[in-house]
Amino acid sequence: MTVAPAWAIPGYLEAREGRLFIEDVDSTALAAEHGTPLFVFSERRVRSNVERLKRAAARVNHPVRFFYASKANSTMALLSTVRDAGIDCEVNSGGELYKALRAGFRPDQIIFNGTSKTEQEIDEAINAGIYSINIDSIYEIELIEARARALGKRARVALRLVPEIGTRSHLGLQTALMTSKFGITSSEVLEAFRRALRHPDLLHVGGIHIHVGSQTPDVEPFAAAFKTMWEHLKAVQEESGHALEHINLGGGIPVNYLRDRSQAGDLPEGEREMLGAELEPADVLAAALRAARDSARTASAEHLLDRLTILLEPGRSVIADAGSLLTTVRNIKQRPETGDVWLLTDAGFNLLLSMTTYNWYYHLISATRADQTAGTPYKVAGPLCDSGDVYFDIERGGRLPDYRKLPAGVRPGELLALLNTGAYTIAQMFPYNGRPLPAVVLIKEGGRAELIRRRDSYEDLLNNEVW
Ligand SMILES: *Cc1c(COP(=O)(O)O)cnc(C)c1O
Repeated sequence: MTVAPAWAIPGYLEAREGRLFIEDVDSTALAAEHGTPLFVFSERRVRSNVERLKRAAARVNHPVRFFYASKANSTMALLSTVRDAGIDCEVNSGGELYKALRAGFRPDQIIFNGTSKTEQEIDEAINAGIYSINIDSIYEIELIEARARALGKRARVALRLVPEIGTRSHLGLQTALMTSKFGITSSEVLEAFRRALRHPDLLHVGGIHIHVGSQTPDVEPFAAAFKTMWEHLKAVQEESGHALEHINLGGGIPVNYLRDRSQAGDLPEGEREMLGAELEPADVLAAALRAARDSARTASAEHLLDRLTILLEPGRSVIADAGSLLTTVRNIKQRPETGDVWLLTDAGFNLLLSMTTYNWYYHLISATRADQTAGTPYKVAGPLCDSGDVYFDIERGGRLPDYRKLPAGVRPGELLALLNTGAYTIAQMFPYNGRPLPAVVLIKEGGRAELIRRRDSYEDLLNNEVW
């Protein structure tokens, strides 16, 4: 009897006939058909991630709405998949708003966040009549009110706060610190609500919002954020009689990038805990509600809480583990001085930006020999003409393993797979070094592998250039 590899997910990611299968599709056949690098997604996995969120809402028995954070991945076929799975959409720009509407989300299913909205983007959001434009500053209250007046329409808005709440995630992914660029501070918030409530014919103030950050490994920051917003909500109600309809807890439900822990020991403890976080969305919701209940002992406060809708904006937790990146080893070298064997792949940081900006760990396996013991260390690097294009921490901060473990005797032509690469990859990719952007395949319910993004041609590299 063979033991399933630690990275395997029964029925989804498996070693079969020695190769990586994604559902019933042989990854090496996909690579042969479409070439590499190639992203492969599973519709069924997206749906099961969404179902997990819906079950969480059912478990706390409280009104909850989920708005998929489209910045994690806004490939049109995947937006449609998320929409069909039955949740709503969060956007961060006019472009994402355009894509969400084109993917078939109704305006009342859309939230627009952003620190630097243009008048044109605000007009587009007001004209579309979206569920909420989340206001980032006191200045923006004036701006959105002026645009609503100019358009003769009423804008639905919420205020975004920045409480001082730290998490154990990467600093670049924490968004609720005073050093973060987002939102209105707690000392300004009551004044901001007063200002926003001045012209109810122009602004409908529906809620209050905090996003504590991405890949947040514990429930406490969510609970603290919720409690802060709840206190503000009660203060607004007491002062003005205006009852906010929703509290938006943002995104940040983590994904376990270390399901296979064979290289976890190579990571610093903090990174290991953050990247290997397991957090049930139901526990996040329950902790938030508990925090509010503990401070809401009066009957009127209980009533307010019961009528409140909780919003979450999950990105990563919907899409990250639904995607894998297939890459081929193109070159090999053994350095006589160190004895290191270097594998040079065709997937660089132009496809996996977080690998350099945040030293993000994506587990690497052999797709050609998925059943073999991965016990041999290799230096692994991408194809870009840039020393930073490596799968280890070039700055020797030890924030990524120095070596990746793969089966012995890897040769050029072997197919590798980077797992959990569905979020913040395609959405951030760029054609550096004149590298055509890769194709994307979606394995549909029923097992058919459909091309959902064509590989760019050389001609595409000239798009919009004038010469
Ligand atoms: C990035 C972002 C999210 C999504 O975060 P995930 O960690 O992917 O769940 C949600 N809301 C806002 C405002 C964001 O900026």
